[in-house]
Amino acid sequence: MLNVEEIRKDFPILDKRVHGKKLVYFDNAATTHKPRQVIDAIVEFYTKYNANVHRGFHALSQEASELYEEAHEIIAKFINAFSWDEVVFCYNTTDAMNIVAYSWGLKNVEEGDEIILTVMDHHSTMLPWRRVAELKGAKVKYVDIDSEGLIDYAGLEEKVTERTKVIVFPVMSNVLGTINDVKRIVRIARKVDAIVVADGAQSVPHMPTNVRDLGIDFLGFSGHKMLGPTGIGVLWGRRDRLEEMMPFKVGGDTIKDVTLDSVVWHDLPWRFEAGTPNIAGAIGLAEAAKYLMKIGMENVRQHEVELVEYTFKRIESLRTEIQVYGTRSTRYRGGVIAFNIKGLNHHTVGKALDLFGIAVRTGMHCAHPLHYRLGLKGSVRASYYIYNTLEEIDYFVETLSKIISLREVLKKQPVEEVCTGT
Ligand code: PMP
Repeated sequence: MLNVEEIRKDFPILDKRVHGKKLVYFDNAATTHKPRQVIDAIVEFYTKYNANVHRGFHALSQEASELYEEAHEIIAKFINAFSWDEVVFCYNTTDAMNIVAYSWGLKNVEEGDEIILTVMDHHSTMLPWRRVAELKGAKVKYVDIDSEGLIDYAGLEEKVTERTKVIVFPVMSNVLGTINDVKRIVRIARKVDAIVVADGAQSVPHMPTNVRDLGIDFLGFSGHKMLGPTGIGVLWGRRDRLEEMMPFKVGGDTIKDVTLDSVVWHDLPWRFEAGTPNIAGAIGLAEAAKYLMKIGMENVRQHEVELVEYTFKRIESLRTEIQVYGTRSTRYRGGVIAFNIKGLNHHTVGKALDLFGIAVRTGMHCAHPLHYRLGLKGSVRASYYIYNTLEEIDYFVETLSKIISLREVLKKQPVEEVCTGT
């Protein structure tokens, strides 16, 4: 199990007070905090090694290039990739998903083909593929969820046809917390030779990821959701798939040679990392991956299971007042709990929690279609990570109780419709 007390000492921001209260940070699905080790690695890079990569024979550039390449190796190890050069650094999950859609999709999807998405998709996976469908005259089909918030696998089987080229889905939903059965989806896709694009934004930071074992074709995830810096993300792709992609972002570093009328693309992964990359970000992300590997991803997952089960137990007494979305089974659920308090707007609840120092996300969490499917205008989302404690959950549930007891007063507060788009 995790030594949460020790872990918390690595996160300077957790000492912060908000509105005079101790910060309780339950917005980890949006972004996580950074341990000293990551902050120090970034400072060290700028202090000792700063130079551009792959562009010079001078010592600093060599050192920076080595660190940058080593970061690819560390991430490859973190997700058990076959090789470091299957790891493409990009900005974030959104960028990774756009790279696949435009580099693989535009080349391989044809008129009349089908792209299968799910109603629980985040906009960042849904919209690039919808654009590909528009551009290529392909058809988009959506897989529904069942009453527990799990993917309707039977519905998926029915939707897949010989024209299906791509199946896209989140490994873990950022709203329902559902952990999807990746291998089952892969088996369905393989029957018709469709590729499988997995959005790992919420899964990779919170559970072991083994891309060799999963059998998927592509996986995207964000550094900032796994203790790393913002502005760095990863696209992992199976070698043969990466090789059949046409780089859509092109420019410096993507080529071996250019004449006025021809281009020879660079080796993997460089052909997909156009321009000067986020070198410090990659080094910070590698440090974050090392930190997580040291803790053990199985332990991270177990810790969150404990937190979620404890939350469910503690809010049981409030069950007539609070509606929680998604399955209660932690076998299929990660550390994300979206809910509403009856009779109160989600933003009102979020604002009230903030006054008690509790940071949660309110709105539609970049998953409007899912909220519409659930008949909701929004939800409050608490999401956990390695530094969260059972005591924080006690405080959270007590605060929810207070909010419920103040419901009639709070109802009269004007609701600020902020951030509904995100
Ligand atoms: N997919 C999922 C499931 C997410 O939760 C998020 C972030 N909320 C994203 C994709 C997009 O991540 P980013 O904003 O880092 O690109």
